[in-house]
Amino acid sequence: MGPERAKLLQSELRVYTWSDLIYEFPFRYIDKTKQHDIKDISVDGEQVLLKGTIIEKKLIKGKRAKRLVAKFKDSTGLIELVWFRGASWIESALQLGVEYTAFGKATIYNGKKTIAHPELEFTQTTDGKKILQSKMDPVYHSTEKLNTRGIDAKARKRMAKTVLSKITEQDLAENLDDKIINRLKLCSRYESIKWIHFPANEEQLRAAQNRIKFEEIFFVQLKMLYAKKVRESKFNGWVFEKVGEKFNGFFSEKLTFELTGAQKKVIKEIRKDLGSGIHMNRLLQGDVGSGKTIVGLMCMLLAIDNGFQAALLAPTEILAQQHYSSISEMVEGLQINVAFLSGTIKGKKRKELFKLLRDGDIDILIGTHAIIEDPVVFKNLGLAITDEQHRFGVMQRSRLWNKNKTKPPHILVMTATPIPRTLAMTVYGDLDVSIIDELPPGRKPVQTVHFSEARRPEVIEFMHKEIKKGRQIYVVFPLIEESAKLDLQNLNTGYENLEQYFPKPDFQISVVHGRMKPKDKDFEMQRFVNGKTQIMVATTVIEVGVNVPNASIMIIENAERFGLSQLHQLRGRVGRGAEQSFCILMTSYKLSKEAKERLKTMCRTNNGFEIAEADMKLRGHGDIQGTQQSGVAAFNLLSLVIDQEIIKTARIIAQHVLKEDPELENPSNQRIKRELNRIRKHTIDLGSIS
Ligand code: ADP
Ligand code: MG
Repeated sequence: MGPERAKLLQSELRVYTWSDLIYEFPFRYIDKTKQHDIKDISVDGEQVLLKGTIIEKKLIKGKRAKRLVAKFKDSTGLIELVWFRGASWIESALQLGVEYTAFGKATIYNGKKTIAHPELEFTQTTDGKKILQSKMDPVYHSTEKLNTRGIDAKARKRMAKTVLSKITEQDLAENLDDKIINRLKLCSRYESIKWIHFPANEEQLRAAQNRIKFEEIFFVQLKMLYAKKVRESKFNGWVFEKVGEKFNGFFSEKLTFELTGAQKKVIKEIRKDLGSGIHMNRLLQGDVGSGKTIVGLMCMLLAIDNGFQAALLAPTEILAQQHYSSISEMVEGLQINVAFLSGTIKGKKRKELFKLLRDGDIDILIGTHAIIEDPVVFKNLGLAITDEQHRFGVMQRSRLWNKNKTKPPHILVMTATPIPRTLAMTVYGDLDVSIIDELPPGRKPVQTVHFSEARRPEVIEFMHKEIKKGRQIYVVFPLIEESAKLDLQNLNTGYENLEQYFPKPDFQISVVHGRMKPKDKDFEMQRFVNGKTQIMVATTVIEVGVNVPNASIMIIENAERFGLSQLHQLRGRVGRGAEQSFCILMTSYKLSKEAKERLKTMCRTNNGFEIAEADMKLRGHGDIQGTQQSGVAAFNLLSLVIDQEIIKTARIIAQHVLKEDPELENPSNQRIKRELNRIRKHTIDLGSIS
């Protein structure tokens, strides 16, 4: 390949070597394994493969150029093949009465069937041997630039063919142990690459895909499990062996309700970690409202009982504030010092706080990411909890580790993003996973309905009725960066409209959006929390964590513009009290198919896992919150949604391999080790960070 084309491949596809090139897989295949009868062609635009002879060919003069029309016949009917380019040349090459295989897109016009520019091949050579094998034809991604410079899909196919014809089994040395290959009946690495580009049939294609998918996830799993092992041996953790007066005091005096079975279960799991001497790195997953905060708090009490400090990190100011006030209240009388830190704490107050923290006079620090900044020094941080973790990047979390220079604090990551366990492993690296899969008793599932604008009057009436009963209402508007100005206008218009239906002084309305000063935001929020306002008009700033049990109605405007998991999070703000709660999804009339599907899913189920699954199916796993920043290698073929079985198998086998041979020293594991080292060299190692 000339230097110019090589450069293009580098800049457009990041292809530098032959191996880069063959790891650019086709994104689809044209199935040329199925032969059609001409009479059966009934769908306009259908790709068909025909076998027959040319019985007539004619050059026809058009206004500007000549075109070639040939009549192609099989035992069932007749179709016209047409060429507009190269007509004369093709005319001279076409042979009458010889069997051809023709492939192309059929068009049907006024009952007449035509294929323009078909691919033609002789079915047999002159000595009667069949030369056309049935096959799946690869189609490769191309870019605008590549296309215009002559590296189109066809050229890509030629390049792949050339490379594959030149490499041997040695060039693509096997990287899996024979035992694994035999046990799972995988094809070899060499075969998988050959077949993924040029499968002779569907079977070969499946075999190649299976093998490659397995390989992709197997090495990721192996890498993570290995990193986990290293972490566990290297970072031995603080031991919290005592269950002392803070924990017991809270349990016996302050806890006003019975913990759910699921809460008890996860507290047990966490306590086991904390008492074991290993370093805890755990993901606590539970649907909105499942009661993660209490679990987090009880863990912090354990830390304090054992002479340590604890920190709780929240993604937004409002949420941090709310944690601060609710936790302060919950531990009142237990002689625990709780402090709050965010960017709004400045000057003298900040300095004082830092001193108290360094001296160990603060037991629990709650705040925003201000907590992880360098000037914040703890005396002995033993446990760090991050809430709603998908808002934090990997790097940010790693800074928490350094908040105790002697040994990193135990880490508990709380999230409401429901991710199936198989996925959590791949998405969250080497975190152990605890799941709260049960809601506190007595919760009535939120009733969700979808209304279009025409039913606005009913909604207003309903709001009046509920307010009369003493309930409070959220009205949420979308606000995204790209259309922030317009969105803000919408919110303001919405607010003004509501003011007309709910006039002062009988009614009070709060407004909260991300562009307000934190102080004003907080003021408005507090008015709603204290029941001074009946309606809260807001953007998604209230999406995470906010807890106002008396608010029982969630109205989401332009609901079609929200993603599923966002809708679910928003809905999670209601249904927290004893009253029946409602979620009303308002939309315009014109909805995309996908939007309709999202709204239908919301009305159908309250189950976070089901919603997460539907979300993944609609959007593909690449968009699951958190995956982009998780530092996980992107997969070429593997789908985190479809290939759960493969993921499970790979995990089991990876565990098995490491259990038998922790350092990969056995001769049979040398191929695996080599591959692992190769991968390591190519990726930044985030494995040791949660
Ligand atoms: P999330 O998991 O969404 O963070 P929270 O921790 O905010 O949920 O809990 C939601 C509400 O449920 C809080 O008001 C909390 O006091 C309450 N709660 C938590 N656990 C229980 C329980 N076992 N029984 C009754 N109410 C509970
Ligand atoms: Mg929460």
